[in-house]
Amino acid sequence: MGERAMNHILPRAEGVRLPVVAGGEGCYLIDTEGRRYLDGSGGAAVSCLGHGDPDIIAAIKAQLDRVAFAHTGFFTSEPAEALADLLVETAPGDLSRVYFLSGGSEAAETAIKIARQHWVARGEPGRHRLIAREQSYHGNTLGALAAGGNPARKAPYAPLLAEMHHIPPCHHYRHGEPGESAEDYGRRAADALEAEILRLGPETVMAFMAETVSGATLGCVPPAPGYFRRIREICDRYGVLLILDEVMCGMGRTGTLWACEQDGVAPDIATIAKGLGGGYQPIGAMLCTEAVYAPIVEAHGAFQHGHTYIGHPTATAAGLAVLTKLTRGGLAARAAEIGAVLREKLEARFGQHPNVGDIRGRGMFQGIEIVADRESKAPFPRARGVAPKIKKAAMRAGLICYPAQGTADGQAGDHVLLAPPFIIEPSQIDELTDKLETAITEAI
Ligand code: PMP
Repeated sequence: MGERAMNHILPRAEGVRLPVVAGGEGCYLIDTEGRRYLDGSGGAAVSCLGHGDPDIIAAIKAQLDRVAFAHTGFFTSEPAEALADLLVETAPGDLSRVYFLSGGSEAAETAIKIARQHWVARGEPGRHRLIAREQSYHGNTLGALAAGGNPARKAPYAPLLAEMHHIPPCHHYRHGEPGESAEDYGRRAADALEAEILRLGPETVMAFMAETVSGATLGCVPPAPGYFRRIREICDRYGVLLILDEVMCGMGRTGTLWACEQDGVAPDIATIAKGLGGGYQPIGAMLCTEAVYAPIVEAHGAFQHGHTYIGHPTATAAGLAVLTKLTRGGLAARAAEIGAVLREKLEARFGQHPNVGDIRGRGMFQGIEIVADRESKAPFPRARGVAPKIKKAAMRAGLICYPAQGTADGQAGDHVLLAPPFIIEPSQIDELTDKLETAITEAI
């Protein structure tokens, strides 16, 4: 049983045969044929601690031995309480309330809904508009999809999606004017929010939502210096809530536990997932400030929301063990150190590559943009399918990386997202760059 066509499990890509995973050891996944794959992207920026971490496995087993699940309508649990405490202790700004979920899309839905209920509770029901960004990704459920700015993902569902409003992303490489400094560009990109708030009428805008470091759609694009400080000022000026999506870039991925720490801002509402469970359990969370939550309690008693698996004891036990390792165990700090090595080695290998237009990112969250021409930054036509070809070639070479296609309008090129486990060693980063170079050469 080396490879399996997917016959019953969706999504089914016709004719695709996938290796069957049999094991995981540190930075490697192993299939039933014994082939080893270096996990250069942690799946989709999930496996921050690598595979088979004995501490996390022991914590999950211990919880399973006590009790796997108890519904939050009837019980709280020790791991859920301890994880919420540790999250609040280590969260930026005044985030002090935690809502546990099973993943990032649920966290996005929860963030949007709590922003809305906040304004209803405060007697401003006219505030119902969400502003987000083009080429963003917040999840695949209908609310999160509507908030996101990926036209291809949204197209089939257009009639079902709530109206949301979008400003351009903060992406100096693609949207900066020739000669415009990153700082000047960042100011200009942030000012688009003010213009949109004024266009819509501030009394109708409930929140602005953005990924702190743009992940899946753009490929690890950090904000320009000063961008989020200005965004924060604009939000405050008009009473608009700031929602930061750190589902992909949070939990140490960028070298600090929260990506926004490096931008000197704190949100009113934040979402996390992926690295919170490290892949050991599905778990996400929405955090908000007391200022967001208190009016809801006062006016309505409680937040009008809920899922069966919120605060799942086994999932929160995994999250607690992962977050403990990231914080007290120093793994988030290691992400900063080894992330610098990753960046250095990517620059050394691809800095002059004729088809690499940009190398960007923070810490263990790095992206490289593939272009047809470095000078003009012209992307390859989508029809060339460069990103899917890189993915296939990388798997053949024994590397898991996360390539994605550029946008159809040519605004963004194909890119490869790299997000290895924080435990990766420099020699394994060499293996990663070797295999990635092979895959890119084969694909182009
Ligand atoms: N937000 C961001 C920034 C993401 O990258 C993702 C997943 N790629 C999501 C939300 C949705 O998370 P999930 O797939 O766990 O629903």
